[in-house]
Amino acid sequence: MKNIKVKNLVLFVLLGLMCSSALSFAQRKGRLTHSTHNHKTKAQKEQMLDSTIVRKGIIDLQTIDMNKDGKVFQDQMDWNVISDKPGKCPLCKMVLSEVTLEVAKKNLLANGFKLNAK
Ligand SMILES: [Zn+2]
Repeated sequence: MKNIKVKNLVLFVLLGLMCSSALSFAQRKGRLTHSTHNHKTKAQKEQMLDSTIVRKGIIDLQTIDMNKDGKVFQDQMDWNVISDKPGKCPLCKMVLSEVTLEVAKKNLLANGFKLNAK
């Protein structure tokens, strides 16, 4: 009778130890996964949200259209966010729309932005 009680107690303690070590392992693993995840999204954000495409002052569409295909990618919320490559607006995270230089120019003028003479 006494033996059975001791056995149960040992089993109980062992079970408790296993549980707590499994828990702390899960926590460690969770933290590791979390930090790796953070690092990845930060790198992705830096790659996708290029703040150099936010145009300031007098906008020169001919210079922005580096490949000279007559088209640029313009944000439909922030008209001065223009790139020659597809991407996302660093301000509102919207996907840029492909427009002709003529359309981009009209959008800018209609919204009070300044363009070069051409
Ligand atoms: Zn935007």
